[in-house]
Amino acid sequence: MTSQEASREIAVLDQVPALLAVLSTLATNVLDEHINEADECVACGAAWPCERVVLAAHNLGAL
Ligand SMILES: [Zn+2]
Repeated sequence: MTSQEASREIAVLDQVPALLAVLSTLATNVLDEHINEADECVACGAAWPCERVVLAAHNLGAL
């Protein structure tokens, strides 16, 4: 690895905490909006748990 490649890699890694914070906020917003009501999502009307909630919960679990 050249020093230029190394510094490029560090620049990308420096952005990871900010990206994780954005992903966490997006996932939290989805979980706040998509709520179970009689086994149906109030935001998208899909059967509970809707696809977005499953994805958001999965993403939060991975963080
Ligand atoms: Zn939903």
